[in-house]
Amino acid sequence: MNHKTGAILVLSGPSGSGKSSILNEIIYDIGDCYFSISTTTRPIREGEADGIHYHFVSEEEFKKDIEEDHFLEYAFVHGNYYGTSIKPVKQALSEGKLVLFDIDVQGNTVVTNRLGDITTSVFISPPTLSELKRRLESRSTDEQDVIDRRLQMAKKEIQRISEYDFVVVNDNLEEAANVLRVIAQAARMKIPGNLINEFVQKWEDIEQ
Ligand code: 5GP
Repeated sequence: MNHKTGAILVLSGPSGSGKSSILNEIIYDIGDCYFSISTTTRPIREGEADGIHYHFVSEEEFKKDIEEDHFLEYAFVHGNYYGTSIKPVKQALSEGKLVLFDIDVQGNTVVTNRLGDITTSVFISPPTLSELKRRLESRSTDEQDVIDRRLQMAKKEIQRISEYDFVVVNDNLEEAANVLRVIAQAARMKIPGNLINEFVQKWEDIEQ
């Protein structure tokens, strides 16, 4: 069944797990897709651009968006708000695209509850906590207290990996990318509940 209804691929994992690097490896191999750009109140980091990595807004603007129901989901992570806007996601799904989300475990719960029948979720994990520490320290974009907070968060997040369809351990970038490529292709083929009946009816095309 080759349907074109759009699907969602959620990617979660601690900062430093290598989500962006893996995505960069596969982005041109997985067909028509849309990467959801989240809105956040966290300060912009060196090397980031507004509208590309995130939409950077004030807390006041973010709260207005919450009140006006603009978010599919939002969460308070590491002391800042992060949220996924509904409108571009709806648009991309209606165009049959695979929509990629880089969101935390709280966001995954909401998306899975709201759009579970078209959602596949993947937790990307560093091989160990000490490797994560090494990566975060060598990235040197964050202060030590921020790194410590991220490590504590990572310990909590790893407790919830059973909520995901797949876990990809990013020990070797190329291998992790190969696994995610396959998962992304399969995610597109997930059949939304409403299409199953339609498919069965068409499939039973013999006049009785
Ligand atoms: P960072 O500040 O390192 O870019 O992201 C911190 C965490 O926030 C990551 O775990 C990332 O997946 C999560 N995050 C980014 N955007 C969103 C979003 O729109 N919603 C939720 N729930 N989490 C997000």
